[in-house]
Amino acid sequence: MATQPAVFFGHGSPMNALDDNRYTQAWRAFGTAVERPRAILVVSAHWFINATAVTAMSQPRTIHDFYGFPDELFAVEYPAPGDPELAAEIADTVEPTWIGQDADSWGIDHGTWSVLVHAFPDADIPVLQLAINATKSFDEHVALGAQLAPLRDRGVLLVGSGNAVHNLRRIDWSQPEAAFDWTRRFDDDVADLMTRAPADVAGLDRHPDYLMAHPTPDHLIPLLYVAGAAAAGGETAHVLVDGYAMGSLSMVSYTIGCEQLEPSGGDGAQSLPDVPADETNL
Ligand code: ZN
Repeated sequence: MATQPAVFFGHGSPMNALDDNRYTQAWRAFGTAVERPRAILVVSAHWFINATAVTAMSQPRTIHDFYGFPDELFAVEYPAPGDPELAAEIADTVEPTWIGQDADSWGIDHGTWSVLVHAFPDADIPVLQLAINATKSFDEHVALGAQLAPLRDRGVLLVGSGNAVHNLRRIDWSQPEAAFDWTRRFDDDVADLMTRAPADVAGLDRHPDYLMAHPTPDHLIPLLYVAGAAAAGGETAHVLVDGYAMGSLSMVSYTIGCEQLEPSGGDGAQSLPDVPADETNL
């Protein structure tokens, strides 16, 4: 079985699940380019708990973990199967790090399905999620990403889904494709590290713009896993697509191990509902 790539998707608004824009087109192009994986293991920003766990049910539910969005978005289902045997294999792979087997608490959240509906629209490949353990340091997340890297050689596609810059309190709805100066600075430095020295992303929590870019760390941590997997194989990341949304979101996506994909250009307007940022959960 061929070694699978790894990918970090900048997922942005849940509305991207329903949109057709240059981000969703890049995600689709990625899914088309890769050899069909045995399974997809996703670290999503939206499963952020006080434990390390992996979904281990045979039929994970689709979770609509947001509010203030149209009914159409709540109607989206992503009925991919799970893979309990792989969940156990993942736990074995990273020993002595402990990973709990989640039989019924989580499923497939919108950080995962809002990109997979584009990248793998048939929903016929098993999908597992790995929880982000909020008690762990950036160094520990990068190290766990490196521990998971051997799964790529066993046909598992590693996915991180978050945003390289994500500050909902600073969203400027009037500027759909703009970036604030601090957004650009942080995003540029993430890009420098991902494309040159991915393991060094572990130091991003000491970046002068870190607390503006990430008032909470949940959307950055998935990138640490992809960086860790890259560093384990002596690889660097490539930009799949990049851009900004509403001043305080970076939409960049990175791939590891599939350099044939060229970065996308052009405009990338996202549609968003007309509700205050505090009432959403991007
Ligand atoms: Zn999100």
